[in-house]
Amino acid sequence: MDGEQFRAASRQMTDYIADYLTNIRERRVLPEVEPGYLRPLLPAQAPDTPDEWSDVMADIERVIMPGVTHWHSPHFHAYFPTGNSYPAILADMLSDAIGCIGFTWISSPACTELEVVMLDWLGQLLDLPSQFLAASGGKGGGVIQGTASEATLVAMLSAKTKMLKQVKKDKPYMADNAAAALVGYGSDQAHSSVERAGMMAGVKMRQVASDDNFAMRGPQLREAILKDKALGLIPFFVVGTMGATPACSFDNLREIGEVAQEFGLWCHVDAAYAGSAMVCEEFRYLMDGVELADSFNFNPHKWLLVNFDCSAMWIKDASEVVEAFNVDPLYLKHEQQGQVPDYRHWQIPLGRRFRSLKLWFVMRLYGKHGLQAHIRKQVDLAHQFETRVKKDPRFEIIAPVTLGLVCFRLKRSNEVNETLLKNLNAGGVIHLVPAKIKDTYFLRFAVCSRLTEPQDVDEAWQEVLKQTDLLLQEI
Ligand code: PLP
Repeated sequence: MDGEQFRAASRQMTDYIADYLTNIRERRVLPEVEPGYLRPLLPAQAPDTPDEWSDVMADIERVIMPGVTHWHSPHFHAYFPTGNSYPAILADMLSDAIGCIGFTWISSPACTELEVVMLDWLGQLLDLPSQFLAASGGKGGGVIQGTASEATLVAMLSAKTKMLKQVKKDKPYMADNAAAALVGYGSDQAHSSVERAGMMAGVKMRQVASDDNFAMRGPQLREAILKDKALGLIPFFVVGTMGATPACSFDNLREIGEVAQEFGLWCHVDAAYAGSAMVCEEFRYLMDGVELADSFNFNPHKWLLVNFDCSAMWIKDASEVVEAFNVDPLYLKHEQQGQVPDYRHWQIPLGRRFRSLKLWFVMRLYGKHGLQAHIRKQVDLAHQFETRVKKDPRFEIIAPVTLGLVCFRLKRSNEVNETLLKNLNAGGVIHLVPAKIKDTYFLRFAVCSRLTEPQDVDEAWQEVLKQTDLLLQEI
């Protein structure tokens, strides 16, 4: 394909994308295919001679779309949202065209420098404490990771290195066995990626019991730390979650941060979903105490209209990450080293894409007010659904609706609720996933697509009512 052919093909693709997203409401949100559906639709081998572009285009509807779960359908209410917007898509096109691998400053200076500035812009939009921002001129700074899971792992590995150095200095007689004694903490509501990071980092992790509001509190964390210290273990790391996945609950960051400081633990904040809401002043009370954290992460690719992948992470003292992962082969050295960040030291892979373009385009083309309007609209839609649920005495809400997630269930057994969810998903009109807290199974209605309108929420509720009536008639 040459430049002229690309021009024509990309026009076709642009039309296809605009049509797809404009008419996505018409598609069944969950596909009906069975595992293995795709192989019979393709030849057994790659072609020997080039196919025609028109044939490739035609195969999108024939091969791909039947097996797509439409995450941006206004009828998609599963998990948490993932971002999608035209400005972000345009930025990804440009990123793909530039196609640089920005591991050091010299490997593409714009890639590094735009990222530094965009993480400052974004941090300011969230009103993060200035110590996290490169613009403060201190030790802090931001970086784009691929996912929240990577951010947690990077924070944990940095904390591990820091604590092991500390032990070597303060208690050299313990140094040989210290790694096996390290222990980290998260709430019983923390995302599975926290437990997984512990496995990958080779450290013990403890789940601290959350309170009646599903929040991890300081006294419970303190108690767990003291218990472990009494066993001769070395507490080194804690994750506080803002907007935990099961019910969008919020740990008490101030209490957790204070305990972390008392015992010298690294405090990482996982705000994967809820962080985006901090662009609105009225939700900032949820991050009270964030200034006590060592690192903070959220996914603009979840709720801030940026396409996957873009996970923003800020570190108060970036040297603690950079030094933890610093290897410096000759082929990656450059003359400006030390004057600007070399992001290869801030992350697990070496290679990295030009992801800050997405942040730049989205922040410019929506502006602060546009981003706030997006969050506020989605929170209002969640309250619209909550109101419907509350009016029907057969249902209960099982957690406060703080942002865009409504957790609800029929006042029946877990089994009845499981069947309701199964029937809802089989109906194909809407898509939801469940969660369970302390043996209570419930349904999660997340407002996900930026295309969701009040009428979609009403239709979703009508579908819940229809499936509920059918189910209750049967049992
Ligand atoms: N943390 C929380 C609170 C989440 O809700 C999720 C995913 O939904 C994650 C972490 C993992 O996100 P990622 O896929 O970016 O690793």
